[in-house]
Amino acid sequence: MPKTSTKSNAKRYEQQWDVSSDSDPTAYYTVSLTREGQLICHCWPFLRNRECKHVRRVQAGEIAPRGQTVAAPPWMTPVSSTAIAVSKLRLVLANVRCVTPVADKAEAEISAVKVPPLPLGNEHFLLTVLYDLLQLGVAWSALQKRFKVPREITPEWVTYYIAEYGRLIYGPLQEGRFQGWEYIPPEGV
Ligand SMILES: [Zn+2]
Repeated sequence: MPKTSTKSNAKRYEQQWDVSSDSDPTAYYTVSLTREGQLICHCWPFLRNRECKHVRRVQAGEIAPRGQTVAAPPWMTPVSSTAIAVSKLRLVLANVRCVTPVADKAEAEISAVKVPPLPLGNEHFLLTVLYDLLQLGVAWSALQKRFKVPREITPEWVTYYIAEYGRLIYGPLQEGRFQGWEYIPPEGV
């Protein structure tokens, strides 16, 4: 007896990736791996047989597949501390899950801020870092310079985005790797 189609319960795609849009940080394009082994995108250039940077980024391994723990790419491996002076606060690159102020024990004042390594291409994460640093009073001009923030993004917009979509931070650190992500809804911000 021939095999009957199992279409109804077959997954349509082998795997999917959500790739954030460069022009609009609130937008994502879904790249899907078909059962035939083809990567397809739903963006306008792809549909017109043009080059699509979303597929390219998936091929480059920059984006973690949906529902999968983030592997440890080089930029997430332990970092030696690098201090960068930004306004009065010192920003220190460190293996923290999110922006973490360091208080001076004696004066109970914030003396430095630990900043997590930025994952490539994750604009929600970058916006969370910018939001947290703004909350700590770091000057926007300093942030723009330090994080190469696109000109169209304003502090008002960052605040609006986080109030609307919540914060995105790394999952717990285990053996030097962040275990995926943790999403903090707007109510928890
Ligand atoms: Zn695309």
